[in-house]
Amino acid sequence: MSKLQSIRGMHDVLPDQTGLWQWLESKLRAIAGRYDFREIRIPIVENVEVFTRAIGQTTDVVEKEMYAFPDRNDDVLALRPEGTAGVVRSAIQHGLLHTPGLKVWYCGPMFRHERPQKGRQRQFHQFGAEVFGLDTPATDVELILMVEQVWRALGLRDNVELQINSLGDREDRQRYRDRLLDYLTPYTDQLDDDSKRRLERNPLRIFDSKNPETQAIMAKAPRLSEHLGPESQAHFKDVLRMLDALKVPYRVNTGLVRGLDYYCHTVFEWVSNDLGAQGTVCAGGRYDDLVEMQGGKATPGIGFAMGIERVVALLEASGKELDQQPDAYIVSRADPAQMLSIAERLRADLPGLKLALSLAGGSFKAQFKRADRSGARYAIVLGPEEIEQGVVQIKDMRAEESVQHTIELARLAGWIETQLGKLETD
Ligand code: ATP
Ligand code: MG
Repeated sequence: MSKLQSIRGMHDVLPDQTGLWQWLESKLRAIAGRYDFREIRIPIVENVEVFTRAIGQTTDVVEKEMYAFPDRNDDVLALRPEGTAGVVRSAIQHGLLHTPGLKVWYCGPMFRHERPQKGRQRQFHQFGAEVFGLDTPATDVELILMVEQVWRALGLRDNVELQINSLGDREDRQRYRDRLLDYLTPYTDQLDDDSKRRLERNPLRIFDSKNPETQAIMAKAPRLSEHLGPESQAHFKDVLRMLDALKVPYRVNTGLVRGLDYYCHTVFEWVSNDLGAQGTVCAGGRYDDLVEMQGGKATPGIGFAMGIERVVALLEASGKELDQQPDAYIVSRADPAQMLSIAERLRADLPGLKLALSLAGGSFKAQFKRADRSGARYAIVLGPEEIEQGVVQIKDMRAEESVQHTIELARLAGWIETQLGKLETD
């Protein structure tokens, strides 16, 4: 029978990788908590409209990438391609927006039917955060500061660059749209097919094209930043002023438009040179019209989403490793019940201890081999005589010359605690 395989672009996260994922997730959770964000958990499947309304009909995500399907009742559902639309749906549904200042984060799988390649999967994971009901530039800056704090905590501060731009408000974009059309119309024939279609419906989106010829044309296009009204300009200037005051390095990238339609005013991406073509590790921006588009009362919002796989790749590239090996390994020729009983007592006495046992039994030689392979620092040796005398032998598996210590069972937990404590301070 043929072997069953995971779906292309949807990957297992294996036991030797999950440690790094958990470490990253715990840092993200802790930092979000310190910035007064609380977790929200929303379904992975929603009515397709939750996404088509929010993300926009002419975006890659909706046009080409969404996993949408009729369920058994012929309702059209979709696997979530991103988190914000569902968070907004939930916040409206449960009246969370009545008091301004809601701050929430989420973390979990997202689905996009893209061409799988390095840094681009069909199931990937995002950590994201959203702030509702606050439209001040300080709100934008605090969110950016939180992400900066994440890079520092991960030791990646020097691996990413913050790029920032303003998309202005709806009127600014409408005015600019006409300028951009004036510029692009003579080039119509040279644009890629997607961009040709977007010319009519959403020319701003063309900045997002990955086609090199289109990119070359867009490089000389007039910029939205030159067509911002006074209020939009003031908001953006204030954001940049505060970033300067807080010594957050950034680069204004006037070609940054983001792939989803709901953005306005401040938009930003953290980009790394260490990941090849898929360099954006975190991206977001302001979305003051989104809540209303989703059927709620007009409420400003801002958020970001971080690609977990890409951050993990950065951590791996930076040489981050976690010690996941057991601290100790019990090698035993005693009655297995006695081995289990000693192990249970050790685990109770030392909650931080990672302890493995030789459950497969066999000769001492075979068991020592497994103990060695486990990477454990100490082998705890139980023979029938040891049990009778109430002692164990302990072997330091990484000592230069082989030393065995005989330790009384009653003092075993204390002895291990002292040794592991010493190792930590070394
Ligand atoms: P890209 O331009 O790379 O397609 P995007 O604009 O579609 O990115 P967003 O929707 O802003 O991406 O998602 C935020 C982050 O989620 C991205 O910066 C990236 O780190 C991650 N991400 C998006 N799509 C994928 C994917 N298919 N596989 C892995 N990570 C992804
Ligand atoms: Mg994309």
